[in-house]
Amino acid sequence: MTHRSIPASLLVKSAMRGRCPRCGVGALFIGYLRVVPVCAVCGLSFTNFATDDGPVSFVILPLCFLTAGGSLVLEVMMQPPMWVHVLVWPTLIALAVGFSLRPVKAAMIAIQYRNRERNEKAFEASAPIENTE
Ligand SMILES: [Zn+2]
Repeated sequence: MTHRSIPASLLVKSAMRGRCPRCGVGALFIGYLRVVPVCAVCGLSFTNFATDDGPVSFVILPLCFLTAGGSLVLEVMMQPPMWVHVLVWPTLIALAVGFSLRPVKAAMIAIQYRNRERNEKAFEASAPIENTE
């Protein structure tokens, strides 16, 4: 399978649904964020796909800017009591992280899968031809 045969729409769709980036059917996660070792449908191994702290960074950093800006705007525009801030922002952050961390992690795995397929094909195409003489 070459990178041209993996449509971006399939990668996005599989990431949003938490499915295997190759077949789009097999489950990618056990529980909330633990990745299965092997796809139960197509047999793709996920042991070499390392996302580490990448998904957290991609979720937390923009969220920090949004909540900090949002709390400043709310305070300047409406000056609500402090309990509104205490209630609104942690709840909003928890919900945003809870709903976005899993698709972002699946998207990172899908991107790694797509780039790995592309690199393996490029490596195979550039491999020297064995001398048969
Ligand atoms: Zn699969």
